[in-house]
Amino acid sequence: MSTRRRFMSLGAAAVGVSLLPEVSVLAQQAQDFIQGPPVADIAATQLSQRVWYILSPDGFPTPENRGMMSNVGFVVTSDGVVILDSGSSLQIGQMAIRMIRKVTNKPVVAIFNSHFHGDHWLGNDAFVREFGRELPIYALAQTQAMIKGVEGNAWRGLMERWTNQSTAGTQVVAPNKVVAHTQEVRIGDVTFRMHHYGRAHTESDLCVQVLEDKVTAVGDIAMTNRIANMDDGSYPGTLKYYQALEKSVGEQLWVPGHGEAKRDLLKTYGAFMAGIWEPCLQAVKDSLTEAQAKAMVLRDPRVAARAPTMHGFQTNIGKYISLAYLEAEKEAF
Ligand SMILES: [Zn+2]
Repeated sequence: MSTRRRFMSLGAAAVGVSLLPEVSVLAQQAQDFIQGPPVADIAATQLSQRVWYILSPDGFPTPENRGMMSNVGFVVTSDGVVILDSGSSLQIGQMAIRMIRKVTNKPVVAIFNSHFHGDHWLGNDAFVREFGRELPIYALAQTQAMIKGVEGNAWRGLMERWTNQSTAGTQVVAPNKVVAHTQEVRIGDVTFRMHHYGRAHTESDLCVQVLEDKVTAVGDIAMTNRIANMDDGSYPGTLKYYQALEKSVGEQLWVPGHGEAKRDLLKTYGAFMAGIWEPCLQAVKDSLTEAQAKAMVLRDPRVAARAPTMHGFQTNIGKYISLAYLEAEKEAF
């Protein structure tokens, strides 16, 4: 105990030694007491009778936006509020709670997490602190496993680094309830129907249909005006997913994790994705190089039309064409 107290009084940063295991544990514990600053309020926008969202103006995390890079959706049911993705940090979750309070005094009674990328679930921490450890947090089994595994802490660390520690204090709170494709979760007067049609943006992307309001939250399988991270995804998988989802739910207001909700979201983002995928597949079939495939993609009108205004396009398009070309090679042989 005296050793522990001595290390504590020195402060974890001053110790900076990794030889003693207890020191690194203490360093982590000291880190847990450091809390980043609050996030600026963004008023919620109403999308339908019961569905609202807090629209993030930015698509990527920076020290200035303190990690506010993804939308937080919520549904006001007769039994309480249901969260559709909880944001990138404790502080963003706390901001969302402040904004929900301007709409309703009902408690938050459940959360759905669309996938394992940290900007969609790191905010869970704020809700369990406010509404209790028993708060049901739903996700697909694979998403739960990834957040409980190394990805959970990895995303927490990445978000701290990208925001210059603004998200510090955020704890990993993994989903505690597993849902599966076609399952319905009834909360108050609202039916939430689960959809999953294989790998799209990740291996396990949950889309949540708010049945009564004809609104479906799609996580990151489609984005309004931001290029999607495809490191964990599949181009043909995404296009197949859209087809199956649209066939199942029909006309909807689609709510993405990034950007504004749109009725034509799957159509517009689907055209962009096909504009990357189809030239790459053709290039592989014609034994053309990756550089030639890239030139074909950049010439494709479905891509060229979006290039000037899409967030993240210039910095990411090369990498994501590369991933499409690799996937086309696998698909073609
Ligand atoms: Zn994502």
